[in-house]
Amino acid sequence: MLNIDLHCHSTISDGLLSPTQLVERAAMRGVKTLALTDHDDVAGLDEARRVANEKNITLINGVEISVSWRGRTLHILGLDIDLTYAPLIEGLLSIRHGRTERAHSIANELEKCGIHGSLEGAYAHVGERQLIGRTHFARFLVKHGHAKDVKSVFKKFLVKGKPGYVSHQWASLSDAVSWITDSGGRAVIAHPARYKLGKNSLDELLHEFRSLGGAGIEVITASHTPEQTLLFAQHAQRMDLLASCGSDYHGTGESYFDLGQLPDLPTGCTPVWHDWNASI
Ligand code: AMP
Ligand code: MN
Ligand code: MN
Ligand code: MN
Repeated sequence: MLNIDLHCHSTISDGLLSPTQLVERAAMRGVKTLALTDHDDVAGLDEARRVANEKNITLINGVEISVSWRGRTLHILGLDIDLTYAPLIEGLLSIRHGRTERAHSIANELEKCGIHGSLEGAYAHVGERQLIGRTHFARFLVKHGHAKDVKSVFKKFLVKGKPGYVSHQWASLSDAVSWITDSGGRAVIAHPARYKLGKNSLDELLHEFRSLGGAGIEVITASHTPEQTLLFAQHAQRMDLLASCGSDYHGTGESYFDLGQLPDLPTGCTPVWHDWNASI
């Protein structure tokens, strides 16, 4: 069985382990090929690569880009991206600026519900890159007794219709796909079942994504049920999209899957790594 994991997070975004600790954990779990895919930032990849080289792991340059599409938020993974491609790096920087602004709005919304000090409280969980997201607010809310764990926060706060929700405009799908693709990477729709798209919207998304140059979809991911895995394997084959697999690991206690040791792709899928070099 291939031990390959193409989706995980470090303290550069909202993971709990530093890039070094993350790669060390991947090595301990026998991962041979790892993509570090922090939200909207690639700053952990140099450190991750140094440790990966020591541990004989192939490190794939990755990122998970936040996108707005028809009023919904989608996550698009960039795999094997070029870190020197300026439009990609500038695009990510502008998304991070948007995150900072959104954090102020989230804190204002929480304030209205009597939850004080959440901006400083969330920043206490943020790494040195100062990239802030809802997970950092979630950790603050858990610490202050508003929910028992991070998963429960996302049932009571920070989502549509609940305290602390703000709508936000992320990158466009076409910008995200072209930043990735034009840098020489492959764009992959992360955790496609999470968007709860109806049949028609899903079809329209897959067609639009393909026509923009999108390469694949995640088939194996922690948030898919076995039925969803099979369903998205069929969508991948039907749409001639490559299939990817990743744990979406953020840290022990906050993730359904640990790093690596993921289920195999269903038969008939073409893996996103099918033509990567032999060492992968
Ligand atoms: P953001 O990109 O700042 O809006 O935050 C999105 C992140 O919040 C995701 O990448 C997850 O890490 C986390 N998240 C969203 N929904 C959930 C959930 N239901 N349970 C746990 N974490 C979640
Ligand atoms: Mn996350
Ligand atoms: Mn995601
Ligand atoms: Mn992720």
